[in-house]
Amino acid sequence: MTSAVAKYLDTRGPGLHHITLRVDDIEGVLGRLRAHGVRLIDESPRPGAEGALVAFVHPSSAHGVLVELKQTPGRAASRSGGVLAPPTAALDASATVPRFNTPTRYQLGALELLSLSDGFFHLDGGAMFGVVPRTLWEKRLPPDRRNRIPLAMRPLIVRGERTLLIDAGCGDKMDAKSADIYGLERGYHLDHALDEAGLAASDIDLVLASHLHFDHVGGFTAKRDDAVVPRFPNARYLAHRQEWEDATHPHERNRASYWPENFVPLAHAGVLALVDDEAEIMPGVRLRRSGGHTRHHQMVMIESRGTTAVFAADMYPTCAHVPDPWVMAYDLYPMETLAFKRQFAREAIEREYLVFFEHEPSMAAGVIRERDGKRTVERVI
Ligand SMILES: [Zn+2]
Repeated sequence: MTSAVAKYLDTRGPGLHHITLRVDDIEGVLGRLRAHGVRLIDESPRPGAEGALVAFVHPSSAHGVLVELKQTPGRAASRSGGVLAPPTAALDASATVPRFNTPTRYQLGALELLSLSDGFFHLDGGAMFGVVPRTLWEKRLPPDRRNRIPLAMRPLIVRGERTLLIDAGCGDKMDAKSADIYGLERGYHLDHALDEAGLAASDIDLVLASHLHFDHVGGFTAKRDDAVVPRFPNARYLAHRQEWEDATHPHERNRASYWPENFVPLAHAGVLALVDDEAEIMPGVRLRRSGGHTRHHQMVMIESRGTTAVFAADMYPTCAHVPDPWVMAYDLYPMETLAFKRQFAREAIEREYLVFFEHEPSMAAGVIRERDGKRTVERVI
């Protein structure tokens, strides 16, 4: 016998090893515990026996008792109203994708980078990988029963001369129907992450949009009573001039992604500034137009003392998008995405940029490596 329990019996004799609590929304429970400062052994759920998801709470936070949280197959709560999802024979494959949402800190020269989480959502796997067949992408990100893959929303804070927030997740204005379509999991969200990082909404000086799609800027505004207002009370909000033009004049193909309530109230409140290509946001931080996804989609280059990080937004939504032709069907100009990636990937590999993957469920950032023509991402945070 070599199991953990056998070892425990060998050294301590019979007694209580741990207790198990059944939960319906293990992600949400972990988020709430973390927000209350509870020490966790598992920051995110991992596969347990019989298709369950489990996570352990450290005994030091539970009066010396090891506590296991367990979500059994079919017990996942529906996000629209806490109603239990119908039982399934097998757990959704997507539930086995490791989800990582702990705030992480990285010192880039003189700048401090804080990767935060606004929770997770789901998009159609086919749409996320364009012409790449499911038989290939499902090995990287297994889909759920509705063919959706789990995706993170990871805003980034850059602290230097000022405190800058890049993107802000989807926020809390989504109605129940959309929350169900997008499989929203926000048991732990940006407010929790800011809190854990020791920041308040009022500490943010600048809020920058990579582009104005709802999963990037939904958190720019919030409902207060019946009004929708800027969520960061002291911040100046920055968006690219032509992206703003496109977002406020949508067509049939992009209308579903541009939700006016996420950005129009900023203009009304007088807190919006429009910037152009290559704009310097603050010392060491500048825009770099990639186009492709939207005509004026921007990456953010962050440089200090000879080291470079890049907030890639929807150019590299996940690590699986690192091969050049793995381009989203959502992209309005996929050939432009391909052209940009071909050239940018060479640069990122040669100069060992730290790349932030905004939608990657399992990590925040890494360095792209290439060996024998095969690309991988070496996780850094
Ligand atoms: Zn987008």
